[in-house]
Amino acid sequence: MIRRLPGRKYALIFLFLPLFLALSFNAFHPVAIAKSNSAKILLHKAKACAKTLYQSKAKKKYRHNWERCIKRYEKTYKTFPGTDEAARAMFAACKLWTNLYGYSGRNSDIDAAVSLYRELVEKYPTHRLADDAQYRLGEIFYRYKKDSRQAYVEFLKVEIKFPKGDARVKASKMMDKLERLLGKKRLAKGSVSGIKSKKKKLIAIKDIRHWSTPTYTRVVVDLENPVKYKKHLLKKDPDLSKPRRLFLDLQNSCISKEIESSILIKDGLLRRARAAQHDKKTVRVVLDIDNMKAYRVFHLYDPFRIVVDVQGKEPKVKPVKTVVAQRSKKEKATKKRKKEGISLAKQLGLGVKKIVIDAGHGGKDPGAIGRNGLREKDVVLKLANLVAEKVRRDLHCQAILTRKSDAFLPLEKRTAIANMKKADLFISLHANAHKNTRCQGLETYILNIALDEESMNVAARENATSTKNISDLQMILNDLMLNTKINESSRLAKFVHNGLVKELRKRYKIVKNRGVRQAPFYVLIGAEMPAILVELGYITNSIENRRLKSETYLKRAASGIVKGIDLYIKDMELAYKGG
Ligand SMILES: [Zn+2]
Repeated sequence: MIRRLPGRKYALIFLFLPLFLALSFNAFHPVAIAKSNSAKILLHKAKACAKTLYQSKAKKKYRHNWERCIKRYEKTYKTFPGTDEAARAMFAACKLWTNLYGYSGRNSDIDAAVSLYRELVEKYPTHRLADDAQYRLGEIFYRYKKDSRQAYVEFLKVEIKFPKGDARVKASKMMDKLERLLGKKRLAKGSVSGIKSKKKKLIAIKDIRHWSTPTYTRVVVDLENPVKYKKHLLKKDPDLSKPRRLFLDLQNSCISKEIESSILIKDGLLRRARAAQHDKKTVRVVLDIDNMKAYRVFHLYDPFRIVVDVQGKEPKVKPVKTVVAQRSKKEKATKKRKKEGISLAKQLGLGVKKIVIDAGHGGKDPGAIGRNGLREKDVVLKLANLVAEKVRRDLHCQAILTRKSDAFLPLEKRTAIANMKKADLFISLHANAHKNTRCQGLETYILNIALDEESMNVAARENATSTKNISDLQMILNDLMLNTKINESSRLAKFVHNGLVKELRKRYKIVKNRGVRQAPFYVLIGAEMPAILVELGYITNSIENRRLKSETYLKRAASGIVKGIDLYIKDMELAYKGG
């Protein structure tokens, strides 16, 4: 017996050990038990309150009954934040606010639902209800606030923030519906302006510009004012000697006699671009294509222009797989690498060789201006030169500047340069501005829809357009994101941003880190490589203005950016070796 007992004890321990380990520190911890139990009790009470309310027609008529249940849920999520019950309580409270709005019609009720859903998405992004909360936001804007554009953006956020969530399918259906709806509205508006346009002048096409290589071409159609347009890609002609055609029909427009209506491109990708008056009110722009893999069409504002990006088929390169799979080849590559001191990643074309450094603004566009007259375009040009120098010296990479002097360069040309040069990274340098002179800090951006108002304002300023046009851009951004390297860009942004903040903090006491963010920047659209935009501080803030003026600060900043790029490259090579 004496021997058996410990044996049994051990057997029991072994039996329960896995269970114990699995549940140990969270649920079985005495404090955790107490917490979740009482959170459970609070949630249970709140649910009971809501149940009686929903079952009684009489009770639903009185506001205080609704508010009492909402308070119960509020108590749950405020007393036990971070618990599963808190997220569930928040979600239930949002539903109550929404339903209460159905009775009260008070805007403040639906606004309370909106802000609480937003809080839930922000505080509990990994909770299973987070994607549903984001979906509900879309629904509120669609059904109650009758703001289809905002609804579209909220549904788009479901796709972007919760690509694996189950609300994604519903959201995507709603987006299809809204696209049709908004498309119809646009047509309806078009017919109204069509009547007016009998009196109005037609909108003239001012210019057709293009930048091209055998694998990438960007064509830009410049117009006097915004027009509606449609794109068509014709099927391949059975007669193979005839090129395939992509054309745009621009409504209510005319072609001015001054512009060359047929432009020979002949880069192996596009044969030529031509524009002609198709009928009284339509101009047709036709691109004759020799070789095309993919294309995208979008428009930018102020001045209005339509951009067509055409990607050609790449010349065939050795697939990476075969090198990895065949040992002897890999060994050979390793030997070669040791001999030449070049990393395997670089030999396989995975490394970074060319970096485009883009100094924002220039020429007639000064960018942001400080009270003392300090101009963003001058600051960032100095910085770009310092960064380029360091890239060459420290990273032994080629650095290409989009502008070397105080010259004006359209935003769409900057990305075109990077694509044509087949750059591996694109880094656009800027300084920020704000009405509030106390605003300061560093931000780094990637291209995506803006998730907050501040980012939207920054994009509007950098794009030299209104926030209204930005919200228009947010809607079409989904289509433009094809081929965009979001994950690589956000990895690059993280490394560069951290490098910058770390380096500056070595010398300066207060360096406010405003983090990596996202917004729709014209200058990043269509970039075929990881691309970021760095905001180096606020020219409108007296402390940062003084810094941006000083050579020391810019040198430190350049050093931080290049250290960040270096770590990004090393991390990429490590990931490759590891895989
Ligand atoms: Zn700028």
